[in-house]
Amino acid sequence: MKEVNCENVEPKKSLNFIEQIVENDLREGLNDGRIQTRFPPEPNGYLHIGHAKAICMDFGIAEKYNGVCNLRFDDTNPVKEDVEYVDSIQEDIKWLGFQWNKLFYASDYFQQLHDLAIRFIKEGKAYVDEQSAEVIAQQKGTPTQAGVESPYRNRPIEENLQLFDQMTKGLIPDGKMVLRAKIDMGHSNMHFRDPIMYRIITTHPHHRTGTQWKVYPMYDFAHGQSDYFEGVTHSICTLEFEVHRPLYDWYLDQFVSENYRPKQREFNRLNLNYTVMSKRKMLQLVQEGLVAGWDDPRMPTICGLRRRGYTPESIRSFIDKIGYTKVEGTIDVSLLEHSIREDLKPKAARVCAIMDPIKLVITNYEENKKEILFSENNPEDETLGTREMLFGRELYIERADFMENASKDFFRLSPMGREVRLKSAYIVQATGCKKDENGTVVEVYCTYDPNTKSGTEGGNRKVKSTINWVEVDSAIDAEVRLYDRLFSVEDPSSSDEDFRDLLNPDSLKIVENCKVEAWLKDVKPLDHFQFLKIGYFTVDADSSEERLVFNRTVSLKDTWAKKV
Ligand code: ATP
Ligand code: MG
Repeated sequence: MKEVNCENVEPKKSLNFIEQIVENDLREGLNDGRIQTRFPPEPNGYLHIGHAKAICMDFGIAEKYNGVCNLRFDDTNPVKEDVEYVDSIQEDIKWLGFQWNKLFYASDYFQQLHDLAIRFIKEGKAYVDEQSAEVIAQQKGTPTQAGVESPYRNRPIEENLQLFDQMTKGLIPDGKMVLRAKIDMGHSNMHFRDPIMYRIITTHPHHRTGTQWKVYPMYDFAHGQSDYFEGVTHSICTLEFEVHRPLYDWYLDQFVSENYRPKQREFNRLNLNYTVMSKRKMLQLVQEGLVAGWDDPRMPTICGLRRRGYTPESIRSFIDKIGYTKVEGTIDVSLLEHSIREDLKPKAARVCAIMDPIKLVITNYEENKKEILFSENNPEDETLGTREMLFGRELYIERADFMENASKDFFRLSPMGREVRLKSAYIVQATGCKKDENGTVVEVYCTYDPNTKSGTEGGNRKVKSTINWVEVDSAIDAEVRLYDRLFSVEDPSSSDEDFRDLLNPDSLKIVENCKVEAWLKDVKPLDHFQFLKIGYFTVDADSSEERLVFNRTVSLKDTWAKKV
């Protein structure tokens, strides 16, 4: 018999390990049961799907445990930051369906952090180093070999105060001095080997404080302190910060006397195949015009995915599926594609869109006659109703749905006596076709059986295949952008080749002359549809009254699936 420890019996829905930590802390009465998290983006780029994972965690924990989650811009490096990013980040978080409690900026704490730095100097815990960044890096040592102490390490406190004051006043050029914590150049954790606390930046104004500050705190010195100033209880971040955690704690230990401490906890970052998520690389793609912008539908950015037709629900359910662990790995992008198919399947209206149109003339259908037929919007959900489809003697069908000399296993139109149903309409039989001087088919002829109208008794007669159509006079022209994976290799970042040489040449194909149903005339950007037999599509913001533009979100089936 298995021994059962009752204390470990949890309600069945399994918790992720961060939730387990939080529940444990709550049981122990830590911070009087208060839960506070933050999402801390640096405003130096647009958010990507990896950030969505962090957002779902930070906001999700606060929501689940009646806590608060604040948004804090980690804006300590004016060289790369911009208000454009500040605005887009807020828009994207809201779109994903989350609302922060308060909006903070690390730059709100520049004065407090500076005061703290002076306190460190006065307590002999920080010194001004006049060596260059390169020399400091060389002196770091290796994990098994102690570093070299700076010749400036033991300068008098008074001198440190004066020099830091000169740095602060902008009297020292960039790169000439830094403020370093005086910890231990032989420490087994490299981050303890006198880490840099402050650097001089006078070349770029800060997006909020302008030119007021000439010195800026480093991430490690700013992050834990900002968490503490705000009252964060759980500072959740990605695994690469795990080695920084002892330093995060050390800085706090130097000046916090009360029991409360923010605690850093780490989970595995999201890596996806066939894309890049480093902001530096994404910026390169944008700046070099290799994509049409941060919101290019091929980008892994939130705004790119949105424009591609991804929904917030699909992104959240994807994040839910991949979960949170302590193990780094790469997720197959087909799982993300699966999530959007799954989300749109019960929601999106099915419509006919003809990508490669050829005219079909029903020779026994009265000329100039039109009739209104009805088609269900979504076979998964009757409440989504039906829509009108205009029917007439001339229709557009897909070129590939007709074959003049077809083999036995071709079940669509061919003049060999086979019957085919026109979607939500009648059964037809091809009779022949017209060709141009090159032998290319330009028109197909057929006859219809008036007793086979869908919705009537004759409409129940089954034939081997159904094809899509759009009535010629009412059809609307549309441009369709067929997006595919941005890179042709799974891991463009690990290749020896430059990642820009690994772009998928077929990641965008434009269909100029698609014909869609008249019902689509009033669509608006981000509306979703299933183009029958083809895939899910959304309306692009480039659409105008004159010209509809659709983006392919995802094909109906995974065309990249490995053949077995
Ligand atoms: P960079 O690309 O410059 O390394 P970053 O992606 O770390 O930057 P930040 O703005 O610092 O960008 O990230 C904000 C938060 O999002 C951090 O807590 C970070 O841990 C988290 N985050 C970033 N990338 C991912 C990812 N791929 N998966 C999960 N979380 C991520
Ligand atoms: Mg970062």
